[in-house]
Amino acid sequence: MDKGNLFRSWAEIDLKQLRKNCLAYKNMLQAGQQIMAVVKADGYGHGAVRTALTLQKGGVELFAVSNVNEAVELRDGGIEGEILILGYTPAQCASVLKNYDITQALLSSAHAESFVAQGISVKAQFAIDTGMNRIGLDGDDPNACASAIRHYAPFFRLTGLFTHLCSADTPDGKQFTNGQIKKFIRVAESVKDLALPYVHYMNTAGGLWHNPGLKLSAVSLVRLGISLYGLKPDYENVLPAGIAPALTWKAVISMIKTVKEGETIGYGRTYTAPSTRVIATVPVGYADGYNRALSNKGVVLVHGKRAPIVGRVCMDQIMIDVTDIPEAKFEDEVTLIGTDGEETYSADDMARDIGTIGYEVVCDISKRVPRIYH
Ligand SMILES: *Cc1c(COP(=O)(O)O)cnc(C)c1O
Repeated sequence: MDKGNLFRSWAEIDLKQLRKNCLAYKNMLQAGQQIMAVVKADGYGHGAVRTALTLQKGGVELFAVSNVNEAVELRDGGIEGEILILGYTPAQCASVLKNYDITQALLSSAHAESFVAQGISVKAQFAIDTGMNRIGLDGDDPNACASAIRHYAPFFRLTGLFTHLCSADTPDGKQFTNGQIKKFIRVAESVKDLALPYVHYMNTAGGLWHNPGLKLSAVSLVRLGISLYGLKPDYENVLPAGIAPALTWKAVISMIKTVKEGETIGYGRTYTAPSTRVIATVPVGYADGYNRALSNKGVVLVHGKRAPIVGRVCMDQIMIDVTDIPEAKFEDEVTLIGTDGEETYSADDMARDIGTIGYEVVCDISKRVPRIYH
């Protein structure tokens, strides 16, 4: 019942800001470099189809997701360009991939072999492992990579190669990242004669801080994820001017009451009122994706001021201290993530408070929270 939840807790997605973020990022790339919009995990919680359609209207032609269902959802939703699945898809899905003109990452020789056994030639790109040790042919042995790629090329419509940088977002990662890029280039050069159209290695952080403007293939591209949504790969990062969060998460006050000194609040009685306090209840909880680690830690913006969470985050509700915000009343709108007046509490801020990353915070906002687009 989204209708009811529109007045309980909802997320507002600013599509114009998404486009602005894409443009601001693109403007600092080198001439000819394109953006592959990474819209996995339902567009990092922003809604994959709406996000991708908005970017498609803005000229983006390349998209990436994590699995076959996400890819099919995009195609059914009207996405026309390339759709690359960055992770595992079972070979049993070969005919779906082919029918939907979806490009599949090949994770290993074993993965490629299972597709060969299906006898259906799908569009594919080989993943190369250059040090993350997650997926891909072992980039430490470029000759073995080259022979695997040549061996499997006839069984697929091979359109590219890619690797993933695992520490491009921090200054201490610089040396390791340069090593990853060198390894990847060695592999790319050893199969140059195949003239693969897409050979790519940059994510958000790579494009910002490890982008020497190399031309490794016909289409030079950055796989842009987190900054498209206006968030930072790492809390310490400074993003290019013009990039700002596209998502605001709101809720209302469902009840207000006064709690006497010494009374406790919520499950486990983890908060004791040090004096008479005015407490507001907000109907959002960990089932909405409001992380339980925010118990006694997070803040909610109320009338442009910060109200701390008191007690534990429940499944469907939280309690906040509004003693210093006397204007707070029943059914007032509050901001869980976003800006209200002079105050901002971003997904990145929330993430820092609980020792995670903004990516997880926005991905976690559950289906129960309707997304409104404007
Ligand atoms: C998620 C992902 C990206 C996007 O990374 P961001 O840091 O969000 O820009 C790029 N490439 C691969 C392989 C990914 O899995």
